[in-house]
Amino acid sequence: MKCVEFQELMAAYLEGEIPPGKRDAFEQHIASCERCQAEMSDYESCTRIFQRFVNDEDPPDALRKAVFEKCGCKDPSECCPPPKRDK
Ligand SMILES: [Zn+2]
Repeated sequence: MKCVEFQELMAAYLEGEIPPGKRDAFEQHIASCERCQAEMSDYESCTRIFQRFVNDEDPPDALRKAVFEKCGCKDPSECCPPPKRDK
C-alpha cells in the first residue's frame, strides 16, 4: 500500500468502514511506515482512535504500539485502553 492510499483510507478505518480486503494492508502499512504513523496520530488523539476501533475488534499489537508511541503517553494503560469484550 502506498502512503497516499493509506491516508485516503485512514478516515474510513477510524470509522470502522474500511473494506475488509484493505484492512490487512492498511495495518501492515502503519506498522512499518513512520510517516503514516505520525499522520494517523495527528489525525486524532490516540484515545479517540482506540475508542473507535476497539468496539468490535482487538487492535493488532503493532498498531497499538505505533499509536501509543506516537501519542507521547507514558503508560499505555492510561492512554489507549485495552479492548472491551462483551463475551
Ligand atoms: Zn506510509
